[in-house]
Amino acid sequence: MEHTGPTVMDSADAPGGPAGLARAIDRALPELVALRHHLHMHPEVAYCEHGTCAVIAQGLERLGVAHTTGWAGGTGVVAVIPATGDHAGNGRGDIDGRRAVALRADIDALPITERTGLPYASVHAGRMHACGHDGHTAILMGAARVLAAWPSRPRPVVLVFQPAEEGGGGADRMCREGLLDGARTGVAVGCAYGLHGWPDLPLGHLGTRPGPLLAATDEFEVTLHGVQCHAAYPQRGADPVLAAAQCISAAQSIASRTVGPLDSVVVSVTQVRAGTASNVIPDRAHFSGTLRTLKTQTRATVKRRFDELVRGVAGAMGCRAEIAWHDGYPVTHNDPALTERFFAAAARLVGPERVHRIEHPTMGGEDFSYYAQRVPAVFYCLGLRQQAQSPGPSLHQAEFDFTDAAIPLGVEMMVRLALEPAEPGP
Ligand SMILES: [Zn+2]
Ligand SMILES: [Zn+2]
Repeated sequence: MEHTGPTVMDSADAPGGPAGLARAIDRALPELVALRHHLHMHPEVAYCEHGTCAVIAQGLERLGVAHTTGWAGGTGVVAVIPATGDHAGNGRGDIDGRRAVALRADIDALPITERTGLPYASVHAGRMHACGHDGHTAILMGAARVLAAWPSRPRPVVLVFQPAEEGGGGADRMCREGLLDGARTGVAVGCAYGLHGWPDLPLGHLGTRPGPLLAATDEFEVTLHGVQCHAAYPQRGADPVLAAAQCISAAQSIASRTVGPLDSVVVSVTQVRAGTASNVIPDRAHFSGTLRTLKTQTRATVKRRFDELVRGVAGAMGCRAEIAWHDGYPVTHNDPALTERFFAAAARLVGPERVHRIEHPTMGGEDFSYYAQRVPAVFYCLGLRQQAQSPGPSLHQAEFDFTDAAIPLGVEMMVRLALEPAEPGP
C-alpha cells in the first residue's frame, strides 16, 4: 500500500526536519569540497580506483558507517546504514517489506589530459575527472555523513561507490556480485537512485524523465576481406576499401529505412583503417563505430539489419565481411512510478519551477542501467550551469570541472530520497 501521510521531511520544526538537514549539510560542506578537490587532483580510471577506494573507506570508517570493499574486481565500496527504531525490524530490511534504498555514485575518471588550469587540477597527465564523478563521490559521502547521524531512517540505505562507469561496466559486476539481492551485505535493495551533474541545466535545478533517459550503447568492428592487387589493375583483385565505403554509406540507411521515424537510432562509424601504399589495393579494410538505441526490440532489429547490409554489400563487391559486436550498456530506463515520486520530492525541495521533465532521452549511455534493469530505479540530472548565458565546458572535455556549488543540493536530494517512506511493495 502506498504511504500517503506526511514524511519525516514535511515539518520544518520536527526533529530531523528540513532546517536541520540544511544545517547538517552546511556543516559538512567544507569537508566535502576538500574531498572533491582531492579526488579531482588524483583521478583514477576504470578499475584502477585504488586510492579513491581507500579515501572512501577511510571516510566511512571515520563516520562509523559499516562498509565492505573489494567490489567489482577490487575498487568498489558498499556501505550500509540501517533503518532506525520502529523501522529497524531485523536489520535485514527485507522481512517487513521495507527493502533498502540504494544511492549510487560512480568514482572513476577518464583518460584525458586536463586543461582547466585549476589549483586542484589533475597531477597526472592523461587522467582527469572530466565527467564529474569526483562530484558524485563527494555528494554520496555527504549523504553518508548526514544519514548516519539522522534521527529517523524508515529504510536501510545502501551507499554504492561504483568503479568503472566509463566503459568498464562496473555496475554490471556489482549486480552480479549480489549487490541488489543482499548476498554480501545482508540487505536486499528495493529501489535505486543515481545522479549525474548536468552542464546543460542551471545550478539549483533538477531534471529527469520517466522511461528511457539514456541510450543503449553497442560497438561494432568490421573487417572486410578482399583480394590484394596493383592499384592500376583493379580488375585483378577485390577492393575492400571501396566495399567499406559502400557499407558505411549503406549503414546510414538503417536509421532512415529500418526503424520508424520517431524511434531514435544513431549509427556512427568512427574509425576506418586500410592499406599501406597509394598504388596497392589492400586485401583488408577495417571500420568500427557505435550504435545507440532506446528500445530493446529496436536494438536487436538494428543489429540484425546492420549485419545483413554489411554482409550483403560486401558480398556484392566481391569481399567477405567479418563482424564483431561488443555489447555496451543497456538503455537507462527510469521506473515511471518511482520517477513520479522523485518529481514530487524534488518539487518539495527546490520548487516545481526548478524541476524539469526532460522531453527527449539523450543518446549517451550509463551503466546505472544495470541497476534499473533489476530494481525500480531513477537516474536524474543535477544542474551545474552557473551563468544563464554561457554554456561552459561540457562532459568529457579537458576544460570541464564539476561545480562545487551543486554539492549541497546533490546531498540534500539524495538524503531526502533515502528518507522517503518505502515504495509500494510488490
Ligand atoms: Zn562520462
Ligand atoms: Zn559520467
